[in-house]
Amino acid sequence: MRLSRYFLPVLKETPSEAQIVSHRYMLRAGMIKQASAGIYSWLPMGFKLLRKLENIVHEEQAKAGHIAMQMPTLQSADLWRESGRYDGYGEEMLRMQDRHGRDMLFSPTAEEMFTDVFRSHVTSYKDLPLTLYQIQWKFRDEIRPRFGVMRGREFYMKDGYTFDLTKEDALHAYNRHLVSYLRTYERMGLQAIPMRADSGPIGGDYTHEFLVLAETGESEVFYDSEITDLSFGDRQIDFDDVAQCQAVLEEFTSRYARTDETHDAAEFAKVPEARQRTARGIEVGQIFYFGTQYSESMGALVQDGDGNKVPVHMGSHGIGVSRLLGAIIEASHDDKGIIWPEGVTPFHCGIVNLKTGDEAADAACEAIYKSLSALGLEPLYDDRNERAGGKFATMDLIGLPWRITVGPRGLKNGVVELTSRRTGESEEMPPEQAIARIAEIYGVIAK
Ligand code: ATP
Ligand code: MG
Repeated sequence: MRLSRYFLPVLKETPSEAQIVSHRYMLRAGMIKQASAGIYSWLPMGFKLLRKLENIVHEEQAKAGHIAMQMPTLQSADLWRESGRYDGYGEEMLRMQDRHGRDMLFSPTAEEMFTDVFRSHVTSYKDLPLTLYQIQWKFRDEIRPRFGVMRGREFYMKDGYTFDLTKEDALHAYNRHLVSYLRTYERMGLQAIPMRADSGPIGGDYTHEFLVLAETGESEVFYDSEITDLSFGDRQIDFDDVAQCQAVLEEFTSRYARTDETHDAAEFAKVPEARQRTARGIEVGQIFYFGTQYSESMGALVQDGDGNKVPVHMGSHGIGVSRLLGAIIEASHDDKGIIWPEGVTPFHCGIVNLKTGDEAADAACEAIYKSLSALGLEPLYDDRNERAGGKFATMDLIGLPWRITVGPRGLKNGVVELTSRRTGESEEMPPEQAIARIAEIYGVIAK
């Protein structure tokens, strides 16, 4: 993409309404624009990033054997009356009527819809296990939407639903989700710690929330510092292997890690004092096993091996896709702007032309731009006729992890400059070598 032809409405001033850094940078970097309280328009770069995160979620869900589909955002109230949640859900549910006076609502979550699809089509245990999921906009009429996409009213969420014959199978589905979520967050450059949580209105005994540690997080968390040494890395997992998934769950949840909702001071005191940590965290996901409460109330029954009709065991599993963008920025930025991890960056590298209009500089930038594009990478080429300082400030703000700087003086010596956004370190090298380095970083083969 050439910046002169892109739509990147960068703001010079820091918007006064934004209290936390991720909100400020998302507004300043032209990623989002508030449409009304807690509701945002996703401008091209914000939208591109949302798609990147969504793709990572889809890829990791596919590896775990989960099946994507899509539910409508507007739902009939009748299903929610069947499950008994319509009256109890409260003010967060946006309710409306259609022209015929039928009660409708904007989905805040979708247990009822998925259970309804399941009961309409699945009748035998032979079709189990089954995990269906969607990535779809949700609406919750939060009393105090704040911090930009962190606590919106409209937000983008992955929600998955598991259907199993027995509790044992359903707990495997729970463990499988925990493992696949660990991988998902790590690919986004995040450490998200599973913490024992409170099940809230969804109900059930088994639930973990995933928290990214950050000063601006809304949850107070208590944990054993050993947990931050864990990483999933690139280990291979067979998601059908019950023992292997169970072992990962135990590895990542055996140490003390809880939110304030489930914190137990006496238990925490058993952690060696030097390892006790109190911090703040951003909730980026939650998994639940809740048994048969929806399948019983809504009649989602299957025939078991003996021919008896039994309610299925269910779980639901969510990832806050739009909130994750804010969480990544909270975890990765400096005072100049965002620093995207390579796994999610909107463009693989920036190209800054120090002297647009200079024949040699223009030609070198073009050549680099074309070579990187031919490798299947997406560079963002700042070809605008602007001062170098302004170009650097924009690149730093939008946070591309690598920048190639091209100017007439360097070109006389046959070199360009390759700069890491994270470390700020620059190295001079011939253009071909800079291209090869970028190719290597992103795992593509330079020709
Ligand atoms: P919270 O406690 O933050 O209100 P929740 O526990 O009600 O969230 P879940 O029902 O577990 O939310 O939804 C799954 C995920 O969706 C959450 O882990 C969070 O990342 C995201 N999420 C929930 N509410 C919002 C919101 N208002 N804005 C943005 N993301 C949200
Ligand atoms: Mg939650």
